[in-house]
Amino acid sequence: IPLEGPQAGPLERRRTIGVDVGGVIVGGGAPVVVQSMTNTDTADVDATVAQVAALSRAGSEIVRITVDRDESAAAVPKVRERLERLGLDVPLVGDFHYIGHKLLADHPACAEALAKYRINPGNVGFKSKKDAQFGAIIEMAIKYQKPVRIGVNWGSLDQELLTRLMDANNDLPNPRSARAVTREAIIQSALMSAELAESIGLARNRILLSAKVSNVQDLIAVYRDLAGRTDHALHLGLTEAGMGSKGIVASSAAMGILLQEGIGDTIRVSLTPEPGGDRTREVQVAQELLQTMGFRQFLPVVAACPGCGRTTSTVFQELAEKIQGDIRRNMPVWREKYPGVEALNVAVMGCIVNGPGESKHADIGISLPGTGESPAAPIFIDGQKAGTLRGPNIAADFEVMVADYIEK
Ligand code: SF4
Repeated sequence: IPLEGPQAGPLERRRTIGVDVGGVIVGGGAPVVVQSMTNTDTADVDATVAQVAALSRAGSEIVRITVDRDESAAAVPKVRERLERLGLDVPLVGDFHYIGHKLLADHPACAEALAKYRINPGNVGFKSKKDAQFGAIIEMAIKYQKPVRIGVNWGSLDQELLTRLMDANNDLPNPRSARAVTREAIIQSALMSAELAESIGLARNRILLSAKVSNVQDLIAVYRDLAGRTDHALHLGLTEAGMGSKGIVASSAAMGILLQEGIGDTIRVSLTPEPGGDRTREVQVAQELLQTMGFRQFLPVVAACPGCGRTTSTVFQELAEKIQGDIRRNMPVWREKYPGVEALNVAVMGCIVNGPGESKHADIGISLPGTGESPAAPIFIDGQKAGTLRGPNIAADFEVMVADYIEK
């Protein structure tokens, strides 16, 4: 098995047209952008500002907010202003459905304050009586010089288009499956809407596309196909990914494969939060997905073994957690003071079986003594043994060594 060669890393990134979203470039070879969405009522300015600020501080480079009625449209410029007063310039995207054309026309300050408009051709329309509404939003985007994401979602797919493709399929001697036709309808909805937007006059570098479904295999198939048929920048996301580990695993599996194939310019991990749960979790997962695949670096990585019967104490788990906590707490300062600190790898291992080996691969690593081993913890720095910690303060001593390493 070759260790190098075409199978040894991600495929070349697909070439897309870069889009400027309020100063954040999506596509065109730019690093894959992390974005997220609020779940507050946008009309509640305090709650929305607080959540956008939290998402932005967690690392969301673009934040989408719902604009569903007059009150929320009226709140958008206030949210923008309050964020700026907090020193946060994260671009805001307005999520429009059904009446976006009307809201943008009636609220020019909202149209101006947003960095991008997201429209859903399934409920704004294509080749239907709703064409005029789609056109009206595109004209607003042209007027205010904003990019648009044409966001198709199979939960709200254009039914006229789907029916037309199903009918045509049924007339074929060998009809394709309904699932294949649905995938095709999703792709065509995105492509035809992009063509319509361009024909109205929206520049190609102001258009992004997404085609979200909630099934992993369908998502992979749809995006592979879509990527081969357009050079517009693509927003990746598994819609309705679900709660907890199911949502994380499904999103990571689907987006991981596509990113590995060079597909995807911005990602959103759509997790269903527990009631009152932390919305920033989706940002953390998106960052970890990109970092673990080697596409971007956001935070130092702590490698830790899972533990087993060779380590019956919880000392190494506690130390790994402490180091992770130190990193999260100190990163705002470290990022400023020590450029490149994001690339740091720390290993915290439970015994001598894999401990020294894994520690040698890290920038700095510790191999704690497993059950029955002599109470000594060898330290490795840049692949070389750099000493041994002993006594009751191993954890605290190692924390100091990590901080010293970063400073040096
Ligand atoms: Fe178990 Fe040691 Fe491997 Fe950790 S490094 S999983 S403690 S054998």
